[in-house]
Amino acid sequence: MIDAYGRKIDYLRISVTDRCNFRCQYCMPEEGIELRKHDEMLTFDEITRIVRIMSSIGIRKIKLTGGEPLVRKGVHSLVEDIRKIDGIKDITMTTNGYLLEDEIDKLVEKGLTGINISLDTLEDTLFKNITRVDGLERVLRGIKKTKDYKELNVKVNCVPLGLEEQDLKSIALLAKEDKIHVRFIEMMPIGLGKKYMFTSEAEIIKELEPEIGEFKPYKNKLGNGPSHYYEIEGFKGKIGFISALSHKFCHECNRIRLTSTGYLKTCLQYDIGVDLRTLLRNGSSDEEILKAIEAAILSKPMEHNFLNSSIDNEEQNGMSRIGG
Ligand code: SAM
Ligand code: SF4
Repeated sequence: MIDAYGRKIDYLRISVTDRCNFRCQYCMPEEGIELRKHDEMLTFDEITRIVRIMSSIGIRKIKLTGGEPLVRKGVHSLVEDIRKIDGIKDITMTTNGYLLEDEIDKLVEKGLTGINISLDTLEDTLFKNITRVDGLERVLRGIKKTKDYKELNVKVNCVPLGLEEQDLKSIALLAKEDKIHVRFIEMMPIGLGKKYMFTSEAEIIKELEPEIGEFKPYKNKLGNGPSHYYEIEGFKGKIGFISALSHKFCHECNRIRLTSTGYLKTCLQYDIGVDLRTLLRNGSSDEEILKAIEAAILSKPMEHNFLNSSIDNEEQNGMSRIGG
């Protein structure tokens, strides 16, 4: 499916829950957020039906996210159901890693092709401070366990918070010994993220290059999304950047998002989209749902406007609800 600006849309991010076992400072308040009721959330069968319908117009890659996707019971069976759909080539997950050591075997067995683990620091006290959970060791054990699966594409995602004590070098070094790609993500002004200044790609390279070696741009495409990568001599993995603000990539945006309550969002920053849950539950046919999806994709905004402080139709939900 091609949108109104000529972009090929082939990537769907699905938030399977708005619940999370962490309370990252830039994502969720300490007391949590008001949670959606269970019957407001899409069932696995409903999600699978949407993916099947979307695969008929060219969706090929799926990312499961949240909230924390691993707190949704039985999420591996959703992986299995989606994997069986014709046309779906890739199914990956973004997780905070806390439950990973217990879940990774089942996820891979059911067909997961890649996993992104969010990790902002390797320093215990700072980890507790950022996530409000004493869980660094568990996350590291989860990452270690991914090494059992040579075919699994493993990435570590880190959001620089502009804190002096956040040691970006140690995070980058995770890509040295193992074939783990480490990506630095610019903080986006969404929800609690608005309180932070983003650290740009140029600033990070300037800080890290003298310490770990020259960043040589990697010409080939890696992964489904907008990150671009650098190679560093002696590193098995690559260092990537997702720089939504300093290197806007809206012109090549290939993604849409499905929230846990069944709202199809076409751009992270706006609430523009369509409520698919109502259609799923009022007896609409696959054709009717497909028409609604196509209309939503055609209304996908041309670009985000994160650097503009007032816009119309701005998304009011935070990242954990949207599905980051
Ligand atoms: N709980 C899972 C996790 O942490 O990977 C999945 C959901 S979380 C919202 C997905 C990613 O969004 C995490 O890597 C997190 O660091 C990132 N994130 C949250 N708020 C953000 C913001 N304002 N700007 C950029 N990234 C953000
Ligand atoms: Fe939870 Fe992920 Fe948000 Fe942290 S970033 S609070 S782990 S949803």
